[in-house]
Amino acid sequence: MDVHSRPWAAPQDAPVDPTRLSTALELLLRATPDTAAAWTADGALVFANDEARRRLGGAPPLLAHLLAPGSLAFLAERLPFHALGAAPWRGRLEVADGRGGTTIVHATIVVTLGPDGDVATTAMLARDAVLAAPPDQGLDGWPGLDALTGLMSRGGLVERLGDRADGSLALVVLEVEGLTSLNERLGQDTGDAILSLVAERLRRSVRAGDVVARIGGDEFAVLLRTSSDDDADTLALAERLRDVVQRPGSVDGREVALTVTAGAVVHANDRDPLDLLRAATLAVAQAREVGRGAACYDPARHQESDRRRTMAEALRGAIERDELWLAWQPQYTLADQRIVGVEALLRWDSPTLGSVPPATFIPVAETSDVIVPLGRWVLEQACRQARAWEAAVPGSADMDVHVNLSPRQFADPTIVGQVTDVLAATGLAPHRLCLEITETAVMDDVDAAVEALARLRAVGVKVAIDDFGVGYSSLSYLRRLPVDVLKLDRAFVERLDDGDAADAAIVVAVVNLARSLGLTVVAEGVETAAQRRELRALGCTMAQGYLFARPVPAPALTELLQREAWR
Ligand code: C2E
Ligand code: CA
Ligand code: CA
Repeated sequence: MDVHSRPWAAPQDAPVDPTRLSTALELLLRATPDTAAAWTADGALVFANDEARRRLGGAPPLLAHLLAPGSLAFLAERLPFHALGAAPWRGRLEVADGRGGTTIVHATIVVTLGPDGDVATTAMLARDAVLAAPPDQGLDGWPGLDALTGLMSRGGLVERLGDRADGSLALVVLEVEGLTSLNERLGQDTGDAILSLVAERLRRSVRAGDVVARIGGDEFAVLLRTSSDDDADTLALAERLRDVVQRPGSVDGREVALTVTAGAVVHANDRDPLDLLRAATLAVAQAREVGRGAACYDPARHQESDRRRTMAEALRGAIERDELWLAWQPQYTLADQRIVGVEALLRWDSPTLGSVPPATFIPVAETSDVIVPLGRWVLEQACRQARAWEAAVPGSADMDVHVNLSPRQFADPTIVGQVTDVLAATGLAPHRLCLEITETAVMDDVDAAVEALARLRAVGVKVAIDDFGVGYSSLSYLRRLPVDVLKLDRAFVERLDDGDAADAAIVVAVVNLARSLGLTVVAEGVETAAQRRELRALGCTMAQGYLFARPVPAPALTELLQREAWR
């Protein structure tokens, strides 16, 4: 037995004859009812106590006869990594039971390296899992340890977090994305193997004394010493760990590409351990919210997500509670100021939050499922109102009714069916409905957008590109988009005031291109007579804005339309 390397060495403060010590330890290992064995790199057993010999049952002293094939392969793959970290490995193994079968043991394994840095000797102390675990906790009851990966468990980590730290420590939580679907696709065993791979990669990337834990099904945590408690450095650390785990690799002979989201927090001694863990987990959610792979915990963002959650809650059921209504803003011809269209703009009067602007609550609705019933409600109300005006105001049947579609609604494959249903239910002629979709929603994936736009137009409705000019320089894409109307963003209209030649040139280019493609251009947010004059001079024919009319409730628009009819 190799006794002169670290794991078996005597405590430094007690001068002991190494030979005597190793004799004592050997006696101890022979006396214990547990299984103790040590073997060389090629699997030859150099030590086996009575229990180990009983399990071998007369077979030659080779590791292959002591360990079940699965456990053998598992160790061959993982132990070299442990050797690097010089940390003991703890976990479950399948071992011969001496009666021709196998049994599960909880094992602690240490490794010593030879002069060439390769694994020289491996020693194992193992205890029957059924004996080791409290009966009510089964095999997973090994205190403080995760049974699958041998990592520290959530409870173990929380205990460690409670220890006072000298110097800077960072806590990083890493969540493996899509593990459930990986399990479904590749099987639970492969899923487990993936988790073990993640555990191994994390363990290899930290230094001795750092803690790696598995704190949930797909959640890992790393507590590590850092040289700085700066947020940027902590974030860089989280990103580095994430990169390590995401490296391409193979499991059971299959290529796996893992996606991981990481959240980090600086360890503070005055923080409750559970609070620290919660903060790091929140940082994971914050990273997801902003579409990033990693984030450092930001208390301000925490309030922001609280606010959004409260709003999403209040929004749920707003339809049933009758808190929503539509404001209407007319669109005019620039030549003779006739109303040629109206845009429906959603309004929400919340009893708890007050009157919330759509620019605030629509994005919240977008990230929860509320946008689906909300969007449908707007569509139906708008079409119904248009029909009511048809009956009440002569001439209003020529007017286009514009309804905004959020990016999520636009991406929803059922949107065409919804539009068809609403048109059928309300009896509105399809060509009177114009759906406004923002430029950014379209430019995210132009090919998909072209297809979706074409399917909408096949129903007979019109389509407008909203906020045109804010997103990308999309003039080149415009030719490909099957649309009817371009709404020139307010930002452009505003800039016409300074007489900036470049802005004017862009407006001219857009108007000319649109005209050559047979599109209508509507200028948005026209507030001054000067803007109106300038737009006309540049060849724009239609406009919408406070100069002409603010968004108003339906009865007020009815009056406007009635006055129109008498002109
Ligand atoms: P949008 O579609 O670009 O609507 C135009 C916005 O500009 C409206 O703001 C309108 O009130 C405002 N506006 C109109 N004329 C002027 C003007 O001369 N000057 C200025 N400064 N503003 C003007 P609103 O109603 O607050 O809506 C904001 C955004 O919320 C809308 O921008 C639209 O993106 C979204 N939104 C509104 N209703 C709905 C809806 O039913 N569904 C969806 N998905 N989004 C909606
Ligand atoms: Ca709009
Ligand atoms: Ca707009």
